[in-house]
Amino acid sequence: MRIVLLGAPGSGKGTQAKKLVQRYGIPQISTGDLLRAAVAAQTPLGIQAKQAMDAGQLVSDEIVLGMIQDRLSQPDVENGYILDGFPRNIAQAEALDELLDKLGQPLDISLLIDVDPDIIMQRLEGRRTCESCGQMYNMYTNPPLVEGICDKCGGRLHQRSDDNETTIDNRLKVYRQQTAPLVEYYQAANKLGQIQGTGDINDIFNAACKILDGATQKEQPKAETPPAEIKEKTAPKKGAAKKRAATKRKSAKKKTTVKKKAAAKEKVTTKKKVTKKKAAAKKKVAVKKKSVKKRAAAKEKVTAKKKSAKKRAAAKKKVTAKKKVTKKKAAAKKKVAAKKKSVKKRAATKKGASKGKAAKKKSAVKKRAVKKKAAKKKTARKKR
Ligand code: AMP
Repeated sequence: MRIVLLGAPGSGKGTQAKKLVQRYGIPQISTGDLLRAAVAAQTPLGIQAKQAMDAGQLVSDEIVLGMIQDRLSQPDVENGYILDGFPRNIAQAEALDELLDKLGQPLDISLLIDVDPDIIMQRLEGRRTCESCGQMYNMYTNPPLVEGICDKCGGRLHQRSDDNETTIDNRLKVYRQQTAPLVEYYQAANKLGQIQGTGDINDIFNAACKILDGATQKEQPKAETPPAEIKEKTAPKKGAAKKRAATKRKSAKKKTTVKKKAAAKEKVTTKKKVTKKKAAAKKKVAVKKKSVKKRAAAKEKVTAKKKSAKKRAAAKKKVTAKKKVTKKKAAAKKKVAAKKKSVKKRAATKKGASKGKAAKKKSAVKKRAVKKKAAKKKTARKKR
């Protein structure tokens, strides 16, 4: 399926293209993305394109067509592609038709995403893109949960340098003057589908799919200029012209009412969405706070437990030390008692020994006295 997405900057072409890539399994080819990559890489082409981009002007057809030709020769476009931001003027559209005719692969459809200019300004000014995954946000209608951070991958959100008021004004002017005529171009080729680009993103996507599925199912007949005779036959009568003008006015009025209603609906949806998101973010923060509190309480509990265990261990240590001291004292006391006992014993032994000696001495003296007496008695007996 070969699709061109048409619409003013900020109409949601990029957002819808990303969803269509998922649905149809074909690549998105965004000339804006290709040019931004070239600018970031500072290639000669990027350096050349930067000035026009910063000013909100179109980059030269030569550069863009060269880039598209290159991209369409790559193998991943075999089953089709979604052109986002190309063509941007009639010359580019004609060059694309020529190239596709040569390849024998004509476009299937060009889908216009129609959005009120007032809404466009708010969308572009609030637009933020994730540097890592490309997810898109809007500060007014679809803000991230945490400012500046992608909900999806945590990457940093950035604002495109050309999404400022002055450049946006220029881009919208360029769109009106150069790109909007493509609506008639593709209508004339009977290749134009159209959807309202306001309201819920998924509703817009479903409307887009309905048209794209229809376009691939039926062969698109080429718009041809009717032959002169048929033109004459079907030429409107005078009254019919008046009637047609009235119908045209009526349908224009109806269109304005529908547009107004859609814009109002988008405003309400946006408000609801923002409120919901804010509530969700608040809840998330509350849950986080609660869990932080819980964790802090648990930590405190553990610390208190550790403290009390430490205290208990210290008390135990004290008791053990006291017991040790008591034991030591008892042992010392015992030692002293034992020493005293041994001293006493030695003293007693000494005393006993000296007593025995005295007794022995006494008995020896006695023995000697008896012996002396006996000797005296013997001598006396002899004398007689
Ligand atoms: P976009 O991301 O499509 O809004 O494009 C950003 C800028 O890139 C535009 O304002 C132009 O300066 C440039 N650009 C993108 N596509 C084209 C194109 N097909 N032709 C010329 N300039 C383009």
